[in-house]
Amino acid sequence: MVQLKKKLSGEFKVRSNSPLAVVVEMPESDLQVLTSVGLRIPVHSKILASASPVLESIIERPKKRRSSERTIPMLGVPYNAVSVFIQFIYSSKCTEEQMEKYGIHLLALSHVYMVPQLKQRCTKGLAQRLKVENVVDVLQLARMCDAPDLYLKCMKMLSTNFKAVEETEGWKFLQNHDPYLELEILQFIEESESRKKRTRRLREEQRLYAQLSEAMDCLEHICSEGCTSVGPNDMDLSKHKGPCSKFSTCHGIQLLIKHFGTCTKRVNGGCVRCKRMWQLFRLHSSICDQPDECRVPLCRAFKVKAQQARCRSDAQWKLLVRKVASARVISSLSLPKRKREEEPRMAFNHQGLRRSFNL
Ligand SMILES: [Zn+2]
Ligand SMILES: [Zn+2]
Ligand SMILES: [Zn+2]
Repeated sequence: MVQLKKKLSGEFKVRSNSPLAVVVEMPESDLQVLTSVGLRIPVHSKILASASPVLESIIERPKKRRSSERTIPMLGVPYNAVSVFIQFIYSSKCTEEQMEKYGIHLLALSHVYMVPQLKQRCTKGLAQRLKVENVVDVLQLARMCDAPDLYLKCMKMLSTNFKAVEETEGWKFLQNHDPYLELEILQFIEESESRKKRTRRLREEQRLYAQLSEAMDCLEHICSEGCTSVGPNDMDLSKHKGPCSKFSTCHGIQLLIKHFGTCTKRVNGGCVRCKRMWQLFRLHSSICDQPDECRVPLCRAFKVKAQQARCRSDAQWKLLVRKVASARVISSLSLPKRKREEEPRMAFNHQGLRRSFNL
């Protein structure tokens, strides 16, 4: 009411019949809004003009004919929707029930007549009431009325419920009448699918780096402290306490180390398990920051080799090293399928490994 008083400042009369009652009397309406059923709603031009720049320019347009009665037509929407629209202009309010019934029409009216406060209410209200049955209609309206948040919400709902939406009348109508929008929707669905795939791939990569990181922890732990069946040669494994906390990974590494020490085919013979172990040693060397005290086999040798080949940079390997170095939480062991299996040409004595370990 305070707002209303401001809008009408100087134009309303205060009638005071008794010292106790003060009645505010609205000035006479000077304008009518014509609705689609021919019903007219009396309004005040100043209030309409102050709420909507579009209505303001219509009101201020010079009259073609001199007539005492001025009319603004708001056709194409139900009478009740126009009535709620006018009510909102006067009071900045509309009920949830009115939003439920006339939300779509109110969005159109608020967009056409540029009433941002109402448009915001409608965008939120319609987004909350979005259903499979009306999503296509609301999407079309959101696109026409330049309501990007609502448009995106509709698109997301469409792409997650597409099978059900395809059965709706709205979708069938759209297919026959708006092939461009149909294409836009199908493209959005396709893009969101590839977005999901990308996310899934990234998560898998993260898991892999975490697994490799745990493998590195286990390798260092086996080579320095020893675990159930493999450890440094100066350690009595029979006195060892038992499985460690990451034993599922640790056990896998122990088996690989044992295999690596005894395999006759070896890396150069194309043994896949030996290649895995070889890569784990290399990866360890790439992230090891204590090569002098390190007890992991080949650590120093790989470091020297890496320094010699520094100019021949392998970006993919460096990336892997960086990712593994940053990932520290893991559950099991697996290795990346690298496109190009690079095998360092280094002499390695398997007997030496057997000697340096309790195998
Ligand atoms: Zn262990
Ligand atoms: Zn082997
Ligand atoms: Zn090391």
